[in-house]
Amino acid sequence: MKTYDIIIVGAGPGGLTAGIYAGRQGTKTLILDKGLAGGIGREVPLMENYPGFDTISGFELVEKMKLQCMKYIELHENEIVKNIEKNNDNFLVTTHKDEYCGKTIILATGSSHKHLEIPGEEEYLGKGVSYCATCDGLFFKDKDAIMIGGGNSALQEAIFLDNVGCNVTIIHRRDELRAQQYLQKEIKERNIDVIYDTTVEEIKGNALVNSVILKNVKTNEYSEFKTQGVFVGIGYKPHNELAKKLNVELSESGEIITDKHQRTNIENVYSAGDICGGLRQWIVACGEGAIAATSAYEDIHNHK
Ligand code: NAP
Repeated sequence: MKTYDIIIVGAGPGGLTAGIYAGRQGTKTLILDKGLAGGIGREVPLMENYPGFDTISGFELVEKMKLQCMKYIELHENEIVKNIEKNNDNFLVTTHKDEYCGKTIILATGSSHKHLEIPGEEEYLGKGVSYCATCDGLFFKDKDAIMIGGGNSALQEAIFLDNVGCNVTIIHRRDELRAQQYLQKEIKERNIDVIYDTTVEEIKGNALVNSVILKNVKTNEYSEFKTQGVFVGIGYKPHNELAKKLNVELSESGEIITDKHQRTNIENVYSAGDICGGLRQWIVACGEGAIAATSAYEDIHNHK
């Protein structure tokens, strides 16, 4: 069985940065990702706040970070980690393909899109329902779509849909948006409609989506709204299954609790990125990845 100083689970911005730091400090490191490097970071349409780039897409930045990381360490994409357990002083990492031994573990497992859990959502997934405007927005050029949510993701994706020529309406459950002011201003300037105080109760259609049932939460009135696309942008849920297997302490909302050195409550287990909650930004995930890899390096050397 191959042994590594550090095994990083998850190749999003946090995991990839941890990989770059781990490799450059001379620790033998492996990154495993169940899919492609970048995770949901690949879907970010445009970033204007990542230092050094006026604008860059998530996809483009991931590709750059991945190539940089692979100069130093091993990266296995599409390899699903099934289990991690303590094995004497090390950790045994079991994937669907192989087993590895790690002296330390960095959990950078990220998060996935939260679902509405309403009738029709699962049935029409890929038939009008989507969690990613960047991936599926072009299918809705010259068509109507709704974007559900009032946070940064929903507004950013609504702007993306508007850019590709989709007639988008935002549906938000409260009477004010949560998103940052610059996004709210842009929505206004583009005349993107926002329906407030409204929840989507059901998604309807035949082969494809053709309408949704809306509920005004103030009047309790229901109405049918014609639309071909339903984009859901209501936040994320943390991927904490492996953390649970290792008895890593989690917050009430399921995120990994770390100290400022990205150490968890379990010795030699660190964490970085969206799975740690807080300000979900690339720059934060990258910073946490750098810290996690540095702490792992220090602990490996202190134990010698
Ligand atoms: P978020 O900030 O948690 O917002 C989720 C939105 O969905 C809220 O408006 C919430 O309504 C609504 N919502 C939640 N559950 C719902 C449900 N079951 N039904 C209907 N509506 C529901 O999530 P996010 O927008 O995905 O952003 C996540 C994090 O990423 C944030 O920290 C955000 O700042 C960051 N982010 C930043 C940028 C950027 O800097 N440009 C871009 C994207 C994301 P309420 O308002 O009523 O709670």
